[in-house]
Amino acid sequence: MDLFEYQGKQLFASYDIPVSPGDVATTVDDAVAAAEAIGDYPVVVKAQVQVGGRGKAGGIKLADTVDEVRTHAEAILGMDIKGHTVERVWIEKASDIAEEYYASFTLDRSAKTHLGMLSAQGGVEIEAVAETDPDAIAKIWVDPVDGLTEEVARGWVAAAKLDDAATEGAVDILQKLYRAYVDGDADLVEINPLILTPEGKVHALDAKVTLDANAGFRHDLFEYEATQERDAREQAAHDKGLQYVGLDGTVGVIANGAGLAMSTVDIINQVGGSPANFLDIGGGANADVMAGALEVITGDEKVRSIFINIFGGITKGDEVANGIVAALERVDIDVPMVIRLDGTNAEEGREILSAHTSEKVLTKPTMLEAAEAAVELAK
Ligand code: GDP
Ligand code: MN
Repeated sequence: MDLFEYQGKQLFASYDIPVSPGDVATTVDDAVAAAEAIGDYPVVVKAQVQVGGRGKAGGIKLADTVDEVRTHAEAILGMDIKGHTVERVWIEKASDIAEEYYASFTLDRSAKTHLGMLSAQGGVEIEAVAETDPDAIAKIWVDPVDGLTEEVARGWVAAAKLDDAATEGAVDILQKLYRAYVDGDADLVEINPLILTPEGKVHALDAKVTLDANAGFRHDLFEYEATQERDAREQAAHDKGLQYVGLDGTVGVIANGAGLAMSTVDIINQVGGSPANFLDIGGGANADVMAGALEVITGDEKVRSIFINIFGGITKGDEVANGIVAALERVDIDVPMVIRLDGTNAEEGREILSAHTSEKVLTKPTMLEAAEAAVELAK
C-alpha cells in the first residue's frame, strides 16, 4: 500500500524525523488557508500523487506570496501527472537547500534482509544514479536482530561521503527511518531528497512509503485505505467481488480458479501476446458473474480480444455455457472472443455455445489453440 507524501511525512514526524511544517488541502481556498496558517513565506505547493517526478511535471511550485499560492494551487489541483489526477496538495514551509541526498530502506529479497541505500547524489531518480554512477550509492544490509546501530550508521554515512556538516543529522535520521521502516511493516521508506540546509540542518523534503498490507492487522491503516488510488478497472472489479489484477496488455482474460487464470496469463505471453488482466471468476460461473466479468474487461480500452478459459469441475460445462450465452445478451461487446471449455459436461457446454458462435465468438478445443487465436485476433 503506497502512501502519499504527506502521509509519509506524518509517519516520519511521529518518529521525530525532521520535516517541514505544513498541511494538506483539497481545494484552492484550503490551500491558501494552509499557507496563511504557516504564515511564513515562501511556501511550497506540492501535488500529492503516488508517482515520482512531480517536480519535473510542474506539480511542485514555490510561492512567495499568498496570491502565488492561489495561482499555483489552481494550476496544480486537477492536473494530470503521468495518468494520476491531482486531488490534494500539500503546502509546506519552503526550505533552503545546500545539498540534496538520497536515503532509503527496502527489503532485499535475494539477500533475505533489509537493504539501506544512501547517496550524496539525491534529488534525482536513484535508478539514474545507479546507472550512471553506481559507486555513488552506499549500500548496507541490516541484520534485523542487530538493527541499525549508531556505529554502523556512522560508517555508512562516511561511505556515502555526505558533507561533514550533515553527519550528525544524517546518522540520527537514518536510525529513526530504520525504526519507522521496521515498526511500520514497510516494504519501502525513501527520502529523496534528504537535504542539508545552509544552516547545517538535515531534514526530509520528500517521503515515499510503501506499507505491507498483509501486516495491516497490526496497524490502523483506515486513513490510508480511505485515500488509496485504485486502478479504475480494479475498482470496478472489486465492486463486483471479482478477483482481478490489471495488467498492460491487449488480451482480456476470464478464467475460473486462480491457478487456471495464472496459467492463462502465462500461455498468452508464451504464444507472443500480452494479457490485459488476471481475472478469476471463481466457482460460480453463472450469467451474473460472467456478465460482470465481461463488463470489467470491455471497460478496459486496451482490450482487443477476450479469452474465456473455463475448466468445468463442480461448476458444470453446460451451466457455464448457459451463463456465457446469457451474459453475451446483456453486455455490449465489440471485440472478438475465444472460448475454451473443458472438464465436466464440456461436450454439452460446447453444444450450447455452438449455436452462438460467429466471426466474433469462437470456440477452441484446447487452451493452446484458444490462446493462439485470441492473441492473433488482438493484433
Ligand atoms: P518529486 O519530484 O516527486 O520527487 O518531488 P520532491 O518533493 O522530491 O521535489 C522535487 C524537487 O523540488 C526537489 O528535489 C527540490 O529540488 C525541489 N523542492 C521541493 N521542496 C523544496 C523546498 O522547500 N525548497 C526548495 N528550494 N526546493 C524544493
Ligand atoms: Mn522526490
